[in-house]
Amino acid sequence: MKNTLIKTAKKHLTPALVFHTDIVAKGARGVYIEGADNRRYMDFSSGLAVANTGHCNRQVVRAAAAQMKKLMHSGGIFYHEPIVRLAKRLSGITPKGIDMFFFSNSGAEAVEGAIKLARHATGRQGIIAFTGGFHGRTLGALSLTASAARYRSLYHPLLPSVFHAPYPYCYRCPMGKQRSSCQTDCFEYLKTRMLRHIISPGEVAAIIIEPVLGEGGYVVPPAEFLIRLRELCAKEGMLFIADEVQSGFGRTGKWFASEHFNLAPDIIAVAKGIASGLPLSAVGSSSKIMSKWPAGAHGTTFGGNPVSCAAAGATIEVIEKKKLLKNASMLGAYAMGRLKAMQERYPVMGDVRGLGLMIGIEFIDAQGAPAGGLLKKILDACLKRGLIIIECGIDKNIARLMPPLTTEKKDMDKALNILEEAVKNAV
Ligand code: PLP
Repeated sequence: MKNTLIKTAKKHLTPALVFHTDIVAKGARGVYIEGADNRRYMDFSSGLAVANTGHCNRQVVRAAAAQMKKLMHSGGIFYHEPIVRLAKRLSGITPKGIDMFFFSNSGAEAVEGAIKLARHATGRQGIIAFTGGFHGRTLGALSLTASAARYRSLYHPLLPSVFHAPYPYCYRCPMGKQRSSCQTDCFEYLKTRMLRHIISPGEVAAIIIEPVLGEGGYVVPPAEFLIRLRELCAKEGMLFIADEVQSGFGRTGKWFASEHFNLAPDIIAVAKGIASGLPLSAVGSSSKIMSKWPAGAHGTTFGGNPVSCAAAGATIEVIEKKKLLKNASMLGAYAMGRLKAMQERYPVMGDVRGLGLMIGIEFIDAQGAPAGGLLKKILDACLKRGLIIIECGIDKNIARLMPPLTTEKKDMDKALNILEEAVKNAV
């Protein structure tokens, strides 16, 4: 069955769409995927940072199924309870000041909405994003995405007046500095070079940043960088957009990664984990900023679908009831401890970093250069032993651990044992 299905997939699904593994999933529950090969796999990718409450969480499935029987679609023709209830609930868990939402279907759409809102609300055109940032694949979002040139290849010209500043990726400092001698040089570069030589602050609608870099390498930036950036935005009237599509919904042990740095973004983009697997995303902002986005300035047919909104409501309940933020923090700290100990034994693990259950392990060779080939060998060995881990970073040398927030310690131990065995055999 598996081989026939993959053969048909290759015939009828565009090659542009990449599947990370050749597992054919028959079903899933929690951290486990059941393959058509009758094997069980541990999904430490959470279906790309989405199944935060675990695959097919019972309470989420129940809420979505019940809603499906009542009302499946609105299309913006009529109000419905799930969307209103969700907006109210979200205003209670998003960073301070965010109290109004526009719902759409994907992360890229949320980013599109954020850009449009920022331009409308400020009357300015310029957008500053960061090298290494990933914001989606639609043309507007892609103009901000700079995690790999291949994503942008043959799509130029992209959105004009988008500029990229260096992301403070301290392990491989884009300014060539050591951590000890750095005075948040990335920030200084943005402020004193970009905003003087390339575009004046008065023409910048927004600066968009992932508070923890996802696809670009699972990088936690220095708090000081984010804080100074936020202050600069406030001073110059540039809106601060936090793209929390990957880092949000409990992934880092808080509802949103911005909280780790006491950041209050003007606009936030949320997706992935919001509805535990059903398509939903949101752009959130203050009612003050949203009031500058007049009726009809943006729209959607499917965004804020009643079933997805019901699933999102249940997702929030599950995260609260099961204390999943606490589990993400504690299990993340435990995993980090074990990984740091492993790092002592295996110098190929050049850097181990992260927050909560958003953990990156950067693999290097003896000279400290990115070792993407080695990581591929390690991840293939993990997969053979039933553990799904995917990579990130421009050199594909960073393993990203992002299991469901429901993961238990025994499963974390099992996964780390498999990973350690794979590292040991590969070096
Ligand atoms: N923003 C971030 C930070 C992401 O990680 C992603 C997807 O990985 C996106 C935006 C785009 O989301 P989607 O693939 O749902 O369009």
